[in-house]
Amino acid sequence: MRIEENTKYDFDDVLIKPKRSTLTSRKDVVLHRTFKFKHSKAQIDVVPIIAANMDSVGNYGTYKVLSKYHMLTCFSKFKPLQGISSNPEDYFYGIPSFGINDSITLGPAWAICLDVANGYTEKFIDKVKDTRAEFPKITIIAGNVCTHEMTQALILAGADIVKVGIGPGSNCLTREKTGVGYPQLSAIIECAEAAHALDAHIIGDGGCNTPGDVAKAFAAGADFVMLGGMLGGHEENSDFDDENNAIVYGMSSTLAMKNNYGKVSEYKTSEGRITKVKNKGSLNNTVQDILGGLRSTCTYAGASELKHLSKCTSFIKVNNILNRTYERETIGE
Ligand code: 5GP
Repeated sequence: MRIEENTKYDFDDVLIKPKRSTLTSRKDVVLHRTFKFKHSKAQIDVVPIIAANMDSVGNYGTYKVLSKYHMLTCFSKFKPLQGISSNPEDYFYGIPSFGINDSITLGPAWAICLDVANGYTEKFIDKVKDTRAEFPKITIIAGNVCTHEMTQALILAGADIVKVGIGPGSNCLTREKTGVGYPQLSAIIECAEAAHALDAHIIGDGGCNTPGDVAKAFAAGADFVMLGGMLGGHEENSDFDDENNAIVYGMSSTLAMKNNYGKVSEYKTSEGRITKVKNKGSLNNTVQDILGGLRSTCTYAGASELKHLSKCTSFIKVNNILNRTYERETIGE
């Protein structure tokens, strides 16, 4: 047994230091970014925020709103793409996801997400290798991991984008149930460095509860940020009960297992929360709040484009100053 002495940080442990800047207005900040991916060679221009492939988030309602802002939606593999046309242009902002045992059908997609709770298994590396061999031109997102060596292993196996985050999710119970995890800000910093050294990209996935957290994830080096809980519970993507509450659940919660597999296997423990969320109103407002926050962060940090935010950022370490209250109530797991 060994303890690593270096402190690792979460979003709450830091703030971004304001800097002198020549920017005159927030509206001049460019949030769009052009990407060219390592293996697929695909080139895209998007606002690099992605809705998580959770049942309550990665659905068609979310897609319709986010695509207007040129943001991506990773579809839950359990939510068929009703309503979406098979025209590749219409499909551009939607990404299908697959598990380790799923066979892959591409349809009109330019990218796919290979998603497992634990990206550290040999079998997952093999899945990425096989998928790359079968589909040389598809952009592969693979995860989740939280350390540099596994980020590089997935990229060398054929992933273009590695999804980073073990345990930070708002509906995640992995830290509580298993004791496993990695503080998300440090995971992003370390995995981004590892991926960028190989000309590949990362998604910071999980743990963002405010627009400020989204900004910190980009400032830490995330090329994309994936959001679950922040986007859930809106009029466009949820059903509400008589008291105007929606249920948002983690994909390893008992509710997800029952809804999607009809049962909870005896050998599994739930590693996901079920939460009750008050109707948050229009998703458009939340998206605009996030994008407005990002523009403002870039102005404070002196970054004319979101893509420059990371190199413009100095984080300062703080005592945990944010005393947060969340608009969700855990009602199960
Ligand atoms: P959030 O933005 O809500 O903080 O985090 C979203 C991420 O949490 C998802 O993209 C996924 O990686 C992770 N996640 C979703 N459901 C579960 C779950 O049931 N258990 C765990 N461990 N992680 C989850």
